[in-house]
Amino acid sequence: MTAAPAAGPRADATSLEELAELVDEGDVVVLSGAGLSTDSGIPDYRGVTGTLRRHTPMTYQTFTRDPRGRHRYWARSFVGWRQIRGARPNAGHRAVGDLQAAGLLGGVITQNVDGLHQAGGARDVVELHGGLDRTVCLNCGDVASRAGLDERLQEANPGFGPRVDEVNPDGDAELPDAVLDGFVMVGCLVCGEQALKPDVVFFGETVPRDRVDQCFELVDAAGSLLVLGSSLTVMSGYRFVLRAAKLGIPVAIVNAGPTRGDAKADVRLDAPLGEVLPALATRLAR
Ligand SMILES: [Zn+2]
Repeated sequence: MTAAPAAGPRADATSLEELAELVDEGDVVVLSGAGLSTDSGIPDYRGVTGTLRRHTPMTYQTFTRDPRGRHRYWARSFVGWRQIRGARPNAGHRAVGDLQAAGLLGGVITQNVDGLHQAGGARDVVELHGGLDRTVCLNCGDVASRAGLDERLQEANPGFGPRVDEVNPDGDAELPDAVLDGFVMVGCLVCGEQALKPDVVFFGETVPRDRVDQCFELVDAAGSLLVLGSSLTVMSGYRFVLRAAKLGIPVAIVNAGPTRGDAKADVRLDAPLGEVLPALATRLAR
């Protein structure tokens, strides 16, 4: 009898070795998704709107055409913001920052809107779907800080929010429509219109063309593309994997669970980012 091929941890160790060799060649462009932030307590939202996840993701069409839908979005977001604001970068975010500081990265593209890459030390992060830390006015285009909006909302809504018994263990809360309708929204600081939108890309909305082009430029110049914590179900991210594969640029994917890009991947680790990334940074960046 011949020995069976090593499985389990041995296979993972082999892949980590392959991943380390690839990353060590440098010019790595990172494409990260929600899986990178779950260790920071941010639920794996089914969308990028930053509302609480039990709800159907807000679409751009509803947000812009349905004033009541928009009002309820902001009421839920006002509550959900506590969780986003309190989140801290995890070991995976810090490892990406370390790899970048070591000169190994050619760029960081994220599908996440939580700002945790930057908080974890990464620079020049391209926020593909925007960021929850700011708002944009649909009327006059003014971009303003979400923290500043939160202060104004707190003044306008003292005591608004779920009772303690309405919050479930992961911080989600279901507020009755009557409560949501009692929320007081404020207007744009510049034009006064009730037209504020979080500066994130909703479902049904396209990523701004110049931002997409910026990402394509990064990918085109990459030594390799490293996908972290994304199942790549959304084309806005998957297209960069297709681009890299088409150009013959090696693709590595680290994600817990299968991804749409697995068939395109040269290196594939189905493992927790909280283990793989610190191990990688320890090998290469310290
Ligand atoms: Zn305005």
